[in-house]
Formats: sequence, structure tokens, C-alpha cells
Amino acid sequence: MKIKALNGFKDILPEEVALWRTVESQARSILQLFNFAEIRLPVLEKTELFARSIGEATDIVEKEMYTFVDKQITMRPEATASLVRAYIQHGLYVKKPVQRLFTIGPMFRHERPQKGRLRQFHQISVEVLGSENGRIDAEMMALAALFFEELGVNVSLELNSLGCPECRPAFRRELLAFLQSKHDELCDDCRRRVDTNPLRVLDCKNVHCRELVEDAPSILEHLCEVCSDHFSVVRNSLEQLGIGYSLNKFMVRGLDYYCRTTFEFLTTDLGAQAAVCAGGRYDGLVEQLGGPKTPGIGFAMGLERLVLLLQQKGELDGEVPLDLFVAGLGEQGGEFAYTLTHQLRKRGLSVAMDHEGRSLKSQMKQADRSKASFVLLIGDEEVDNRAALLRNMKTREQMSVELRDEEIEAVVSSLLPLR
Ligand code: ATP
Ligand code: MG
Repeated sequence: MKIKALNGFKDILPEEVALWRTVESQARSILQLFNFAEIRLPVLEKTELFARSIGEATDIVEKEMYTFVDKQITMRPEATASLVRAYIQHGLYVKKPVQRLFTIGPMFRHERPQKGRLRQFHQISVEVLGSENGRIDAEMMALAALFFEELGVNVSLELNSLGCPECRPAFRRELLAFLQSKHDELCDDCRRRVDTNPLRVLDCKNVHCRELVEDAPSILEHLCEVCSDHFSVVRNSLEQLGIGYSLNKFMVRGLDYYCRTTFEFLTTDLGAQAAVCAGGRYDGLVEQLGGPKTPGIGFAMGLERLVLLLQQKGELDGEVPLDLFVAGLGEQGGEFAYTLTHQLRKRGLSVAMDHEGRSLKSQMKQADRSKASFVLLIGDEEVDNRAALLRNMKTREQMSVELRDEEIEAVVSSLLPLR
């Protein structure tokens, strides 16, 4: 019996890694432009951290977490809680009043695996702690928009405000009354949500529930003055930065810690898995986790979905680039090739060679397959004649490279320009 990977846990094969690196390095360079610093966080945390931050009555905490029940620890389903935990634990607020941080890594949720939905998936999480200013909210969306533009993926931005503990109770009451009037028509999950987390009914994926909530009261009409002003700053700043968006009064997000601004970047190219980035403001979270009163805003992007979008666009998976393949033939040729390969690598050329004594034909095939830019042919005869053949694999041009006795250095120098 062969052992296979767990359902929802995926190997990222060597040729796919190139696209992953494209996405990651693009993100890193844009994050640097916006002055974000990387933080690396553990994968395991106390279960309580997620229960207290994400919320007991959310899908994630209720049914998606991988928890070691006997140890009260959980594999992180998202990064914000851990990042805020680290922020408090290390007193990062003392060093800098406004922290701009990001982290990249795997997250774990026990949900139903589908295209773009895995049980181990990867996120880039970007967070700003210590500012309440709506201009930061818009800046976060501008950062994400720039990233998607540079990657060349088509997305649209949807925006909402969830209000704050001042304005939400009144809205919640009105929403509750509305939902109770539709109670019997709601799906099983939503009937439960009415009691535990009524806002979540608004973003139920069930088609019938969606129709039912069409006429539900809108949070945007219930914002208190402070939240309403804040939302205006966000919207004006988005306009100022030239970021297009549409309002979506049903967007509530699956985590309890959000308040005020919430947003998602959506694609129409991945079927049901439409969200490639989701985020919002969480002004009460730091305090809720035992830190000082500190506002915060952040978002998370799902890397699997971005890689899928690039693959669908026809962006090719890649190989490891190779400058030179040294084809050593015969005993002397093989020996010379072995030393030369190492010397060239020490000088920064990527080089491969064959160690199995294969024929010239088979080594040329290997060179072709590994997409080497150049091939250097060294057989016993070439060593004797002190000249090896260098072939440019793109242009098929050939030239002779002088091999001097014991003077590998000279050969190395003549090959360095290939880099
Ligand atoms: P969804 O509605 O797709 O379940 P979510 O609201 O649970 O997403 P968040 O927890 O906000 O998503 O995570 C942010 C982003 O992480 C999502 O927009 C998505 O791109 C990605 N993501 C979330 N869950 C998964 C998963 N199981 N597999 C792959 N990507 C995921
Ligand atoms: Mg989800």
C-alpha cells in the first residue's frame, strides 16, 4: 500500500514552486515599498487564542480548527490572532507607535477540499497596528490592488462597514427582527446563526438565503456618526488614490473581531472560491487579547488561489534556471568536468553535469531537458587537444574554449561571462 498525502493537503511540486516564488517575491517587494516589516510566527498556539479572537460562534472555531484536544493547542487557522499575540507579548507598541507587519505561511482549516480550497493553505497577512485613521484602510486596499495589478490578475474590490460596538446593537436588533420574520425559510445553518451570530446570515452562500436577505436592513444606514465619518474618510481616500470599488452591504466576514471597514477582492475566474483577499479593521482585538487599547487593520491573501489564477492565465510553471551543462566524456573528460563544475559554481554560475558516464547523446538530451543556456563538451580528446566545444543552446552557435594544462582558472575566466 502506497501512502498518499491527506485529503486537502497538497504537495507543491518543483515546477509549481516557480509561480509561488513569483507571487511571494512580488508581494515582498510591494510590501517593502509600503514600509512593512516581516514577522515569523509559530504554527501552533493555545486554542484559547483563536476562541477569544476569531469568536466561538464562527465556522472556523466551531468546526474548522485542527485542535489537539488533550493539550488545548490548535494549528493556526489564520495569522492575525498570532500576530496580535506576539505584538502584545513582546510589547512591540513600546518600540513604535504604529507597527506595519506582514507574515507569510501555512494555515490549517478542516473544511471541504475543492479547487482553491484546501485544508492546509497559505496566506500573506498584512497588518497595521496603532492607527485608527481611515487613510490607512484605503492605503491597505491600494497596496493589495497594486499587487494584483502587477501580477496581472483581474479582481474587483468590495467594501462595507460593520460599524462599532456603539452602532451595531441597534442594527443587530433590527436585523434579528427581520430574520425572525423569515425564520422558517432560512437554511438549517442560518436558523442556527439567528441565535448565535445573526450577521453571518447575510453572507450565507445558500441561494435561497441570499434572496431572502435582499431586503434585510443595511448596516450602512445604521452607522453612528463616528463610524459614518470614518467610512467617508476611507471612501474619499480610495477615490484620492484612484482605487475603484463597489459597496456590498452583505459582506460581514467570518471572524468576529472585525469592526468598521471590511473589504474583499474577488475574482470571477475561480468558480465558488471567489475571494483572493479579505480584510478589515479590528480596533478592539488587541485589548480583547489583554494588550493596551490599540486599533488595527489587516488583510489576508490566499496564495493557492493566486497561483491558480496565474496558471489559468497560461503562465508557465518553471524550471530551475541553469547557465551551463558540462558534458564530460571519458575518464579524463569526466575528471576535468568535475573540477571545473565546482570552480564555476564557486564563481556564481549555475552548473550541472552527469555522473553516470552516459553517452554524448544522452547527456545532450539531459542538457536540453534541463534548459541549460550553454553546453560545454569535454571528452578525452578535447583534454588532449586542449580545446573544448561550447554550444549556445539558443542560437546553436559553437565556439572553441581553450583548455590549458592545470590552468583551470583560465577556463573558468573564459566561461564566467556566460552568467
Ligand atoms: P472563504 O469565503 O473562501 O471561505 P474566508 O472568508 O474563510 O474565505 P479568510 O479567513 O478571510 O477567508 O481568509 C482570507 C483569504 O484566504 C481568502 O480570501 C482566501 O483567498 C484564502 N483562503 C481562506 N480559506 C482558504 C482555504 N481553505 N483554502 C485556500 N485558500 C483559503
Ligand atoms: Mg472560509
